[in-house]
Order: sequence, then structure tokens, then C-alpha cells
Amino acid sequence: MARIEIEQLSRRFGATVAVDAVDLTILDGEFVALLGPSGCGKTTLLRMLAGLLPPTGGRVLLDGRDITNASPKDRDLAMVFQSYALYPHLTVAKNLAYPLRSRRVAKEQITEKVAAVAEQLALTPYLSRRPKELSGGQRQRVALGRAMVRNPAAFLMDEPLSNLDAKLRTATRTELAALHRGLDATFVYVTHDQVEAMTMANRIVVMNGGRVEQVGTPEDVYDAPASVFVATFLGAPPMNVLPATITTDRAADPAGRVVATGDGLRAELWSGPTPDRDVVVGVRPERLRLAARPSSVVGARDRSFLALPTPPGCPVRLDGVVEAVENLGSEEVAFCRVGDVQVAVRGPRPLSLVTGEPVPLTCDPDDLHLFDAATGRRLR
Ligand code: ATP
Repeated sequence: MARIEIEQLSRRFGATVAVDAVDLTILDGEFVALLGPSGCGKTTLLRMLAGLLPPTGGRVLLDGRDITNASPKDRDLAMVFQSYALYPHLTVAKNLAYPLRSRRVAKEQITEKVAAVAEQLALTPYLSRRPKELSGGQRQRVALGRAMVRNPAAFLMDEPLSNLDAKLRTATRTELAALHRGLDATFVYVTHDQVEAMTMANRIVVMNGGRVEQVGTPEDVYDAPASVFVATFLGAPPMNVLPATITTDRAADPAGRVVATGDGLRAELWSGPTPDRDVVVGVRPERLRLAARPSSVVGARDRSFLALPTPPGCPVRLDGVVEAVENLGSEEVAFCRVGDVQVAVRGPRPLSLVTGEPVPLTCDPDDLHLFDAATGRRLR
């Protein structure tokens, strides 16, 4: 069992508020990712959970027990560091055994546990090697194994994959997710890599400036970001955001349709916040499509992306000018200027867009997100 309750947890360093009154409950067996940009306080939060750093305010409860001031060894939580923190002079077997030896566990039990964990992590062939004789991925597995031998209630991980190359990171992501399912333990995982958080976590905690911006499933935070910050932190390229004003024209439209207008933008919506309000309109690059074929490609061979039907009456319209097109292999991303904003459009290759050419863009009104311009919080 490892249910971790975090209540109003804070940490100051002089004038810097690294973690600012965070409330969060991590359920038993959950894989929770703490995600955010550099300096947002995620490592500080994790170190307070591990007992490596005393909070300046608030409490941490482990299964209802107040552990705020408990020493790391009395917490039943195992930390896995980015740097692996292995003992260079000890073999893999001895590195794995270390946490048990320091707890004076019987020798036979240690041998048995080390063998079992090594087997689980495919480390058996390397037990007599020293860390410097291992690859980055193998070292990372030893660090994980050293946490596993103790059967901790929860694993606290600080960017454990960041020293691996891109290919190994992808493979290790899958292994970690499988390990989590197999161990049935609570994982708290710090990362600034949205792909790691999206692919492994049950829930993501998006942090900004020491505070929690949003807690939700990967789908929640991607599909319904709670703020402009979350919207523009997730996604590659991230969500496009454009300033606009909400108005209604009841004389022209008794149904009370809401219109968002901005520089190069007009969107008719069936519902929305109160009129005459400054908003930020958001739309994901993969949700945008061309409202009409640019003149230069009419007559060119059929391109499914361009041939997508536009909604009746084209309720959403962005008037862009193509500034650059990037080829990602399977897809292309076009960067288009709309008013003062650069808007990314993502679609299958080839988009057949020409730099400098006007490009009318559209999307389904349901794919538009609205945020309050003053607070950045989600309106719909
Ligand atoms: P990164 O991804 O770069 O590790 P992070 O989100 O983990 O960033 P923290 O390391 O938790 O961020 O740091 C949060 C803030 O607290 C930063 O502004 C950092 O400079 C500050 N900070 C962290 N540790 C200390 C310290 N020991 N002394 C002073 N300031 C610190």
C-alpha cells in the first residue's frame, strides 16, 4: 500500500518559492508523472517526498501516517536518480545487494532477492561487472534494481531516462511501463519530457512556477488543458493560441451565436462565455486544415489533406500566410502567419504549401479551446 497525500506542501530557498502550497493525492499503485519546464519545482517536490529536503510548510502523509519529518530510511520509498548514483567500485551484484546489506538482511535472502531482481531486469549476465563496464541502459536498470530489492511501497524517480540516447529511451519507456504494471507499486516520476509523461503515466501533474496547473489523465491534459500554459506546454508543435474578443450580434442572429474575432481570425460558436470578453482561442496543429485550395495547387494531383471537406458555412476561418514548411518524414508542419501570431498546421505529406502564399485555414468549431485572456484559465 502506498497512498501519498500532499497537503499545502511548500519549499522556499531564500526569496525563491520553489514549491508553492501544493495539494495532491497519489493513489496506491498509480503512475504519476510530475511534468513541467526546468525550474518549475518538480525535483524539489520529489525530494521532499523522499525526505531529502525538509519542507518549509505543509505535510506529507503515507497511507495516513504523517512522514513530513521522517528520515528517508523510515519512509519505505525508494528514490531512483537521473545520475543512477551507483557505487563505481562495486559489482552489479553488490550494488543491487547494498540496500539490503545496510539493513542487515540475512545473506541467503539477499542472494535470492538479488537474483530475482536481476532476472526481472535482464541483468543476470552482468552481475559480476562494474558500472563502468555497462551501457547507459544497463546502468539505469541497475539503479532501478537497487530500488526494487527493498520492495518499497513507492518508487520516486527523477528523470531516470534523461542520460539515455533517444532509441534506448523509447525502449526503456516501454519497459518501465511494463515494470510498473508487474510490480503493482506506486510510481512518482519527474520529467520535463511530455512524451514520457503521456506514454507512461496514469495521471500527469503539470507544474509551473512551483504550482500545480492541472492534474489529469494524459487525455485530460492534452484534450482539455486547464490553462494556456498547459495548452502550450503539451504537443509538438504545441497548441496554437490567438488573441480574440467574444461578441454576439443578437439582431443578426437571434439564436445568440457567439463570435470570436481576432486579427485574421473569425470563429462562430454555438456556445461560449459572456460577450465582449477578451479571450485566447486555442487550436491544435493537427486539427487545422485548409479551408480552400491555394491557387498554386489547384490542378495538382489529389492530396487528401487538401481535399478534406470544410464544415458547412465554414464557421471557423483563419487567414494565414505560409512562412515555412518543415518535413518530418511522415508528416509536414507548415508555419503560417495569422495576424501577429505564427500558427502551426500539421498534416500528411505533402501539404503542397508554398512559402509566401496566402492560406485560408479552418477547423471544426468543437476543436477550438477558449481561455480567459487575463487569467489564462480555460473557459470551454
Ligand atoms: P529541472 O527540470 O531543471 O531539474 P525542476 O522543475 O526540477 O527543474 P527544481 O530543481 O525543483 O526545478 O527547482 C525549483 C526552483 O528552486 C528553481 O528556481 C531553482 O533554482 C530553485 N532551487 C532548487 N534548489 C535550490 C537550492 N538548493 N538553493 C536555492 N534554490 C534552489
